[in-house]
Amino acid sequence: MDFQAILDDIYTDIQSELMRGKVADYIPALAEVDKGQFAMTITLEDGQVFSVGESQKPFSIQSISKVFTFARALEIYSRDLYKRVGVEPSGNPFNSLVQLEYEAGIPRNPFINAGAIAITDALITHYKDEYKTLEEIIRFIRALSGNLEITFDPEVARSEMAHGDRNLSLAHLMKSFGNFENDVHTTVMTYFKQCAITMTTEELSRSMLFLAFGGTDPITGTTFMTPSQAKRVNAVMLTCGHYDASGEFAYHVGLPAKSGVGGGIAAVVPGHLSLAVWSPALNRYGNSHAGTLALEMFTTRTGLSIF
Ligand code: GLN
Repeated sequence: MDFQAILDDIYTDIQSELMRGKVADYIPALAEVDKGQFAMTITLEDGQVFSVGESQKPFSIQSISKVFTFARALEIYSRDLYKRVGVEPSGNPFNSLVQLEYEAGIPRNPFINAGAIAITDALITHYKDEYKTLEEIIRFIRALSGNLEITFDPEVARSEMAHGDRNLSLAHLMKSFGNFENDVHTTVMTYFKQCAITMTTEELSRSMLFLAFGGTDPITGTTFMTPSQAKRVNAVMLTCGHYDASGEFAYHVGLPAKSGVGGGIAAVVPGHLSLAVWSPALNRYGNSHAGTLALEMFTTRTGLSIF
């Protein structure tokens, strides 16, 4: 398959969509990002990489970081993790408080904010302090992507904390139900730092390859998790990766994938390849508008989806 030609066509066809939607303005540092930008990268099993657009421009990965923290927590806690967070789609916005109250402080899944904050809390308990936790998250992403310089943007993390009342509320609510182990402020700040990690589509696509190949990176041969764990991470990406638009995303795109309000989406075609797309303007669910469409074009034109 001529992946470069497929990407070039998508790049041409997506141009008219790039100004639609709006950037995540509830995080001031992200509100300044120019719309109109687009990048897409495909990584194959043998290390071949195909890209279009600004594929070497770092952006804020935001909620895509939840895939990496969930992967670590699953490795560390195994089934015990389900005592703290479920694996059902929420059907609610990513920062909703309502369901958390009804369900006694146990978040529906690890990809809504409450679930991801609970996972970060569990990691802090395991690693014993917040700095070590952030270091381990970044170390994991560096190992997956092969880039030892990946780090977070402290300005984005600070900016988010300055407007972090809703996420702090989610954490406090969990604490009131006894589903929280560490200091709320420290944990939410660590969560904001993990969200503020910046990566390019080339790095992001590369870092998802292990999930397309049962937890083992086919290029380096490094095993990051068991095939059964990789299956579970992919299942949660498919059912919960786009919040209350997960059903729609599965319907139109048909791939396990995770979005972030920075405009990135990382996806895998199990057994074949991994890919990442970035375009900062978001649809009303907080998922990249053009990124979602580009992935739909990709699966429609290549026939590569899980269905
Ligand atoms: N850091 C963002 C938040 O907590 C992540 C949300 C997202 O990417 N959907 O609101």
